[in-house]
Amino acid sequence: MTEKKSYDVDCPSCGCQGKFITYNKIDICENPELRDKIFNREIFMFNCDECNEKFMIAYNTVYIDRENKYALALITDGSNGFSGDGITIGEYDLRIVRTVNSFIEKITLFEDGIDDRVAELLKLWLYENFETQTKSKAVAIFYGGRIPETDQLKFFFIGEENSSMETEISMESYRNILEHFQGSEFDKKDECEIDNDWALLALRDGVFNYVGEDDEE
Ligand SMILES: [Zn+2]
Repeated sequence: MTEKKSYDVDCPSCGCQGKFITYNKIDICENPELRDKIFNREIFMFNCDECNEKFMIAYNTVYIDRENKYALALITDGSNGFSGDGITIGEYDLRIVRTVNSFIEKITLFEDGIDDRVAELLKLWLYENFETQTKSKAVAIFYGGRIPETDQLKFFFIGEENSSMETEISMESYRNILEHFQGSEFDKKDECEIDNDWALLALRDGVFNYVGEDDEE
């Protein structure tokens, strides 16, 4: 069941008190209308009735898709615990993310049927490419969706000074890595925090050696 709470919040701009509603549990099968409010970040937005300013407030929440057995915890306070009623690893694919952007990214990946671990590995390559091409570092890269017309996956770069750029990777490159990744020692169901750090560790531990193995035959 979806759970929400109402809080009194002081507007950071004018100081007036207003109501802010948090969704601490989102049962997406029960409330599919919340999907749009997640994607446009409305559920994380405080709107001040007095001065009309908007502020984003990230908070802990759990997104549950009971039909597809997928659960996603957004943990913004640095804690590690996750307590979802009836959500067990094994039965559910469980992921933990720390930012609203990652929260939306994971839902997009899941809806598109893209393995987020392979997406993180692809991003390592994109980070490197970005640096070579622009001589600057990408602050973050996010998956932006699948383009069916061209059979490509879209990614967004957030550069220094908030510049943004878009790039595509072919589904063929994705499937190529996926095929080798599945069933490898890195393909573990109990790993919940799949992010850049996870990908860097996998890289250190030789994930691409494994991925490349069959190609050399
Ligand atoms: Zn205000």
